[in-house]
Amino acid sequence: MITDFDTIIIGAGAAGLFAACNIEKGKTLILEKNNTAGKKLLISGAGQCNYTHSGDLDDFINKYGENGSFLKPALYNFKNGDTIDFFKLSGVESIIREDGKVFPESLKSVDILNSLIKRCKLNNIEIKYNSPVKSISYNHELKQFTVKTNSEKFTSKNVLISTGGSSYPNTGSNGDGFILASSLGHNLVNTLPCLSPVNVKNYSFSDLSGISFSDIKISLWRNNRKIKETSGDVLLTHKNLSGPGILNFSRYIEKNDNLKLNFIGLREDELSRLVDTKTRENGKQVLKSIFKEMNISKRFIEKIFEINSISEDTICSQLNKKDKSNLIRSLCEHSFEVESLEGYHLAMATRGGVALDEVNRKTMQSKIISGLYFAGEVLNIDGDTGGYNIQAAFSTAALAAKDIDRNLM
Ligand SMILES: Cc1cc2nc3c(=O)[nH]c(=O)nc-3n(C[C@H](O)[C@H](O)[C@H](O)COP(=O)(O)OP(=O)(O)OC[C@H]3O[C@@H](n4cnc5c(N)ncnc54)[C@H](O)[C@@H]3O)c2cc1C
Repeated sequence: MITDFDTIIIGAGAAGLFAACNIEKGKTLILEKNNTAGKKLLISGAGQCNYTHSGDLDDFINKYGENGSFLKPALYNFKNGDTIDFFKLSGVESIIREDGKVFPESLKSVDILNSLIKRCKLNNIEIKYNSPVKSISYNHELKQFTVKTNSEKFTSKNVLISTGGSSYPNTGSNGDGFILASSLGHNLVNTLPCLSPVNVKNYSFSDLSGISFSDIKISLWRNNRKIKETSGDVLLTHKNLSGPGILNFSRYIEKNDNLKLNFIGLREDELSRLVDTKTRENGKQVLKSIFKEMNISKRFIEKIFEINSISEDTICSQLNKKDKSNLIRSLCEHSFEVESLEGYHLAMATRGGVALDEVNRKTMQSKIISGLYFAGEVLNIDGDTGGYNIQAAFSTAALAAKDIDRNLM
């Protein structure tokens, strides 16, 4: 038996559910491969769901790398403030942290998920679980999609692909959407993990796990050329470099690149002058003590001395030219050769995806097949940490919903 719908949404994640909440016209079905909705939403923000950011919308656009401009119509159509109001209307109050991150007041992602499911119910949306979509075909004459799962077949006027990317595949988003989009003629931009910690060769900081640095300069070098620079918080973990600064920068990083970190906030010439001044003032001062005044972790400085084979007891006047230069480089331009990014099992997002030039950014409708829509991470969009990815999922979904309603008039 074939059941006919006006709209079929593939994937009951952030984007799929949000679209369903906003489609007012016709009969809508959500097909979800898991036995529950929003598995990734539940683990987002460490289970607290940082669902948007309170920053200015113009700044927002800059949080999606080079592809932010594609999102402009979606973000201006459904803003961060609209998201806060949407949940407030459903009885979920929000809190805004000092850093601008927005969470449900309860700090429970399940409250966000439940309010989306509740709104879907109010909209009479049918959600079919355990229904992995295997194929979508389009009949140009009938202007009709046929969507097949393992055991069922459905037809519809509109299809929204909101299957997410490839990260955390155990939540259900394992890249199916890319295969489905491609089968309908869409080109894909090569997909890779992002928002990912970075593994580097000969990592020497394993025993310093937990030490972090606030707002330090990070530069990315490829073939001896600096290609990008940023600043952000960096965390040393037991096996790699992490923290928001590294995670956000990871969308640009490739194997064999070099990452250079300025741990100390001073340029090489500034630190060199400081060491010279201290040596002039008191040559007998223990070199290590200079860094005490700088509020840098003692263990970290000791490690830097160890890496450069400089004795901890060295006094300023004993520091030879070579050691001085190595020490300064280690602190002001510490170079790490990139071995790999952590895989999809730990990357919080996917870069790449459905090519944006084949999607109308004002409607989220395919430029190849009318009635086909995309929303969320399946698109070649990835945001920084801070609520930007879920907001992008909601905003693209809201725009798609608006156009689907217009189509069904
Ligand atoms: C650990 C972690 C923490 C995160 N924290 C945050 C955060 O705090 N703030 C933030 O903004 N972003 C966060 N993100 C990113 C954010 O969760 C995602 O960008 C967002 O969920 C993407 O929404 P989506 O609807 O596009 O995809 P998803 O939420 O992944 O939903 C896709 C849905 O489609 C279903 N599906 C896939 N293929 C099929 C198929 N063939 N048939 C049927 N159903 C299918 C999946 O089962 C899934 O339910 C985090 C990600 C991770 C992994």
